[in-house]
Amino acid sequence: MATTLMAIAAHPGDAVFTMGAAVAQHIHQGGKGIFVSLTAGEKGAPKDIPVERYGEMQRAASQKSAALLGAEFEILGYPDAEVPFNERVAQALGDVIRQHRPDIVVTHWSGSWHKDHQNCHLLVRDAVFYADLATMNRKYSPYTVRKLFFADNWEDAENFKPDTYLDISTVFEKWMQACDAYPMWRGQTGFFRYNDYYSSLAVMRGCLSGFHYAVALMSAPSQRINGVSEL
Ligand SMILES: [Zn+2]
Repeated sequence: MATTLMAIAAHPGDAVFTMGAAVAQHIHQGGKGIFVSLTAGEKGAPKDIPVERYGEMQRAASQKSAALLGAEFEILGYPDAEVPFNERVAQALGDVIRQHRPDIVVTHWSGSWHKDHQNCHLLVRDAVFYADLATMNRKYSPYTVRKLFFADNWEDAENFKPDTYLDISTVFEKWMQACDAYPMWRGQTGFFRYNDYYSSLAVMRGCLSGFHYAVALMSAPSQRINGVSEL
């Protein structure tokens, strides 16, 4: 049976730029890929575009990008820059996990200076717990996520220590096209050169791991213990 990889991000750009290559690679291998963004990233609007209009553009870019990769894209619609961290949202996100039943979840690392990213990290931690909790009676039946990874993101770099390097050579070009659906990718809405940063990062991570292009992931600390009977 095909396995499912779910990328959960605070903003659509984070989902596709930092987790999209892993989603694309998973689909390439015959699995399913689902992007979930807590917000539409609407407050990243440049001065000349109203926030609401920019939100629509972000939604359209997300659908285009997902279609290109053969993935699904769900935007939960929490307000950008104001992602709430509370039980209600964690439970709602747990429901999304129970509904889609992903084998692997990729999300933000906690070492971020962006509060939405920090809250997303904490919400996913709790959502994975709630999804699994058999005594938590919700609409969908309990579900255990097999593996949790954190993505390599320029805004979440504090103490990010990758341990898993994924070969994305075959999907690199397609992933670049998916990123290009967003105006911010080419610096049209801000100062940061996303395209240069993430394409170069894939080269650098590839150099370290012996692949042409790679993305680096960090396993959840609780999943770093491997029991072996010999080395
Ligand atoms: Zn973000």
